[in-house]
Amino acid sequence: MSNSKTMGSWVASANIPNSDFPIENLPYGTFSLKNDSSGTKRIGVAIGDQVLDLSLVAKLPLLRSDVKSSLEVIAKGELNAFMSLPTSAHQAFRTFLIELLKVGSSHQSNVQACLISQQDVNMHLPCTIRDYTDFYASIYHATTVGKMFRADNPLLPNYKWVPIGYHGRASSIVASGTSVKRPVGQTKGPDNEAPFFQACRRLDYELEMGIFIGQGNTLGQPIPIAKANDHFFGMCILNDWSARDIQAWEYQPLGPFLAKNFASSISPWIVTQEALNPFKKSWQRNSEDPQPLPYLDDKSNKESGAYNIKLETLLQTAKMKAEGVAPTSLMTANFSEAAYWTVRQLITHHTSNGCNLNAGDLLGTGTLSGPKAEEAGSLLELSQGGKAPITLPNGEQRAFLEDGDTLILRAYCEAPGAVRIGFGECSGTILPATI
Ligand code: MN
Repeated sequence: MSNSKTMGSWVASANIPNSDFPIENLPYGTFSLKNDSSGTKRIGVAIGDQVLDLSLVAKLPLLRSDVKSSLEVIAKGELNAFMSLPTSAHQAFRTFLIELLKVGSSHQSNVQACLISQQDVNMHLPCTIRDYTDFYASIYHATTVGKMFRADNPLLPNYKWVPIGYHGRASSIVASGTSVKRPVGQTKGPDNEAPFFQACRRLDYELEMGIFIGQGNTLGQPIPIAKANDHFFGMCILNDWSARDIQAWEYQPLGPFLAKNFASSISPWIVTQEALNPFKKSWQRNSEDPQPLPYLDDKSNKESGAYNIKLETLLQTAKMKAEGVAPTSLMTANFSEAAYWTVRQLITHHTSNGCNLNAGDLLGTGTLSGPKAEEAGSLLELSQGGKAPITLPNGEQRAFLEDGDTLILRAYCEAPGAVRIGFGECSGTILPATI
């Protein structure tokens, strides 16, 4: 893939080819200093292997009037207030950040003192997530999983018409790096007379992207598709950890509940809509499928509704860790191929009944599985419901996750003529259940 040359930053590590955080990215996160026992949270921007501490930038005597109010809001350490500003304010602030960090910036000597090595910070959730919705936007995932339950009729009749989703649980969303305890729950196999209450035996991950809402909408006022991007702040990687045995027993008739809300992990940096712009793609529905209803369709969504984002899942078992073996790749896929609906369609559909979204709300895309079997975004699919365990390079086998396994999700964008940007990673290690 031919990448164009970065515009360049005086932060040298940002100019290394394949850096996730060149000056073209500038994602937002919330961090605290490892050596600060008070744990005070601050807002920062990733640049190369550094974090630009915006609470320090706010104290510099170089403020442009058009970003002064944004900086005041950010300096309070709560990203939601900044996210709720109009997209014009996000664009102006990005221009300001580029001015500070680009090669030849007249602010370099001042801004140098606002940089902190990423090794010296702990990353937290990037913002307060009040509400979390999880969609089911990959038709390949829906078809493969549907086949396990209904071989002759895998896709339910609504799938190609209405973006399927459910309201998830925001309280158990954790930042990448947080360990995940194996859940305990109720399950019943087809041959069991009565259910059991036991540690989950079919623990799985789901490779998803998360969509962060910027400016919210008023209750009762839907967001038309032509305005959806005015409410789209940015994206992260999301792992919707799933207890398949608990899910199979509890999901009818109201959908997932305790199988999904014991933990969901996200990558700590929000890659903004502005940074994703060079990776927009045209979007179209296959001619053999129903075209979207008019409220989910417009010219701009067709011209540029999709995003070219490359996805990868990696696993490192406890044995691999002990032997110093690097994580092994389980699959790769592309967001634009896996997703049946666009970001704009998901935002518009969610608010089409008047439901209000707030700044910092998180929408999961649903498990992103590509068209090929080896592009599946969960172990449930890769192991065919557990019947065909996958074999790792060191000979270990996995049908589902075992204690000590570390699961890592990665995502990055590459396109001809654009500088590669990355999302960092979303990782979590499985701890044993407590019964
Ligand atoms: Mn999910």
